[in-house]
Amino acid sequence: MIEPVIVSTWAWGHTACRRAGEALRGGRSLADAIEAGTVAVELDPTATTVGYGGLPNAEGVVETDAMFMWGSTLEVGAVAALRGVRTPIRVARRVAERTHHVLLAGEGARRFADAEGFPDEGMHTANSRARHARWVAEGRSRFVRRDHEDHDTVCVIGTDGAECIAAVSTSGLGFKLPGRVGDSPLIGAGGYADAEVGAAAATGVGEEVIRAVASFAVVERMRAGMHPDAAIGSVLGEMVRRRGHVLRARHDQVALIAVRRDGVVGAGALFEGFVAPVYRAGEQFEHALPPPLLESDRAWMDPAGRD
Ligand code: ASP
Repeated sequence: MIEPVIVSTWAWGHTACRRAGEALRGGRSLADAIEAGTVAVELDPTATTVGYGGLPNAEGVVETDAMFMWGSTLEVGAVAALRGVRTPIRVARRVAERTHHVLLAGEGARRFADAEGFPDEGMHTANSRARHARWVAEGRSRFVRRDHEDHDTVCVIGTDGAECIAAVSTSGLGFKLPGRVGDSPLIGAGGYADAEVGAAAATGVGEEVIRAVASFAVVERMRAGMHPDAAIGSVLGEMVRRRGHVLRARHDQVALIAVRRDGVVGAGALFEGFVAPVYRAGEQFEHALPPPLLESDRAWMDPAGRD
């Protein structure tokens, strides 16, 4: 066993790390601490693309995706396009603990949440309603990726040297098509944990993360001996090599975090602006990121003319 290490995503990851650290110091398990950290961000109405107050889909309904994975047993539970639950990570965890399935979606996920005692709660804040009304008024296409503020995910991963956990939760791309599922609930894409190696998780444009099966790719590179920073750099580098023609500005951001089972941390992003908060032995800090792979606002043309 080692002193637990927790890594998270974006500025709200400081809240997640702080809450997880408090739980660990209170004697809670790594899994419970990581759940508590994730829930703190889900319930924060100012975290506008996670849980309560998350941006809705094109029809104005908030649909969330979440995953919870234990690396020691490879147990995993996830929910996709779940409606009406402010703490989707808890439902994802229950899927693993109470069923033989790994992923419940849409109406079925909602019914499972009902059966597990999660009330059907309002997900909107005044801000999320206003943002959707503005989006409708602008008459923008539902297929266009918009700006960076329209997406982001809280990922909380950690290790204590024996267990490795990955938790991921998001309301996904703002104003997405109803039923759209991002990377976050997809095992190996939005997150992955294998206690023989470590854990990894992703934030950013889910469609790119899914194509790359990015979290699994990071864990496999670590298994092969790469440092977590190098593993992430290698996966993002491949993304640029294969998909660079559509990655043009910060709203096309993809960022990854990783922790090796011995507590060594990695993080990286395609574009600048990403931060990876870390909690280790009562201390909280941000991982020093390698330089981003791409410059913002690159000239770009879609060969298919979709945008
Ligand atoms: N990965 C999330 C999604 O595509 C969004 C994000 O993290 O920016 O749903």
